Amino acid sequence: MAKETENKKIKELKEKLFFEKKNACKTMSGAEIKKADTFCEGYKAFLDAGKTEREACFETVKIAKKAGFSEFVPGEKYSAGARVYADNRGKAVMLAVIGKNGVKNGANIIAAHIDSPRMDMKQNPLYEDGGLAYLKTHYYGGIKKYQWTAVPLALHGVIAKSDGGVIAVKIGEDGKEPAFCVTDLLPHLADAQYKRPANQLIKGEELNILIGSRPFKSGGDSDGAKLGIMKILNDKYGITERDFVSAELEAVPAFKARDVGFDRSLIGSYGQDDRVCAYTALKAITEIGGVPETTAVCALADKEEIGSYGNTGLGSRMLEYFMNDLADLDNIPLRRALSASKCLSADVSAGFDPTFPDVSEKQNAAYMNCGAVLSKFFGSRGKAGTNDASAEYTAEIRRMLEENGVIWQTAELGKVDAGGAGTVALFISGIGVDTIDMGVPVLSMHSPFEITAKTDIYMAYKAFAAFYARNG
Ligand code: MN
Ligand code: MN
Repeated sequence: MAKETENKKIKELKEKLFFEKKNACKTMSGAEIKKADTFCEGYKAFLDAGKTEREACFETVKIAKKAGFSEFVPGEKYSAGARVYADNRGKAVMLAVIGKNGVKNGANIIAAHIDSPRMDMKQNPLYEDGGLAYLKTHYYGGIKKYQWTAVPLALHGVIAKSDGGVIAVKIGEDGKEPAFCVTDLLPHLADAQYKRPANQLIKGEELNILIGSRPFKSGGDSDGAKLGIMKILNDKYGITERDFVSAELEAVPAFKARDVGFDRSLIGSYGQDDRVCAYTALKAITEIGGVPETTAVCALADKEEIGSYGNTGLGSRMLEYFMNDLADLDNIPLRRALSASKCLSADVSAGFDPTFPDVSEKQNAAYMNCGAVLSKFFGSRGKAGTNDASAEYTAEIRRMLEENGVIWQTAELGKVDAGGAGTVALFISGIGVDTIDMGVPVLSMHSPFEITAKTDIYMAYKAFAAFYARNG
């Protein structure tokens, strides 16, 4: 009896003193899990509709408009409760719900990215070899190139013609449309290929996309297949080979988002990094009811996967300019609005993969179904290239999560010196905003079929909604 009481005491003391991970599936009520499952149906539709930064931007604006947002007009007067969005070149978008205090006490900013790793067509891509027609690519973002061979691909993007016309391209998604692919060597003849280092198993210049084979006409002329394809493209889109120069065509996996597992607890899809955070943040801001105390801002950016460069990435001034417009409404200097602002840099983290446990340090790894991931820092080689959130701000966010019943965990990307990564956090903290990383664990990140858990997605959404409700 004494022994039993003692054991109970120890158990209680452990619960009180230790930081144990909670499995959301065990902790959430049946009703809440059902809510999470329903929420993820909308998420899967968003993934299918927005496989590129342009499409995700377009979908975002569509969802925002439906939720009462209108295009922000600089110089116009907006009062508390106004719901606005600013579309940056159709590739990035920022939304705001103006609060009672405007940005006088700062804004609550959530930033995520809507670009994903893929293969971009080169500017002079079309060629014929061995009687087959191909497009040459330059991969975008960090991919394991061998994962992108022998899977059906679709082509998405635009062709901008020199006369000013822009043709939207989206082909390969519908089962009735043709798909495309990168071919790989048969195992029977792969002896030499197998001896290559894994990062060169497929080389960059071998990521060539097969797009046809039938020559334009029988006869001795060379480039018959190329001509056949160019003729089809000319008939379909009115383009010539020269128009590829001003095209942005992206090859992405041709399959749709779907449930994974007998229990349907997971989602498999291309592009979940980082549309899982983009969608959850978007839902959180569009569902703000009435007038918040503090202005809510959501920035969905392009170019994160290649370092956030360019005028549609968060390394640019795009968020600063938008915040400046909001500060102008309150007649306060931008710097004051920024230094009083708080940000969640919403991006995915590496989920612990039991098949590859060696890259993770178990105490600081993100586990599937253990909730939203709070990461004080990312970076590599001794925290280089990262925002490292302050203890004080981390404590504030921790409290917010706990007060709002969000199941969460803390993690860094992997073992020390196992590799590393960056997010947009350092760009936002770099303009004076308190920033911390928060997101969703992902398995097979940057592959054509990334895996997330539905409860984690829901917990991220819940965290973002709580963040927008915070005041001061
Ligand atoms: Mn990301
Ligand atoms: Mn990424």
